[in-house]
Amino acid sequence: MTSDHAAGRDQATGRAHAVLRSTADLPAPWAGICGASVGVVQGVWDGPRGRRSADPCPECVQLTSGS
Ligand SMILES: [Zn+2]
Repeated sequence: MTSDHAAGRDQATGRAHAVLRSTADLPAPWAGICGASVGVVQGVWDGPRGRRSADPCPECVQLTSGS
């Protein structure tokens, strides 16, 4: 399951990244689990603003699809 990740967005590229829940609750700056910096956190990763968005980060998808 991926419910422990929030959806982050790289405002420069529009790409969605997965952000750990534990860090999403902290103040900016945030980083995706792939290491990319994200400018905004919005909603859950397993949703339309995350992995089901138009441009989800392939590395974050792979990292959250594992065990
Ligand atoms: Zn990513």
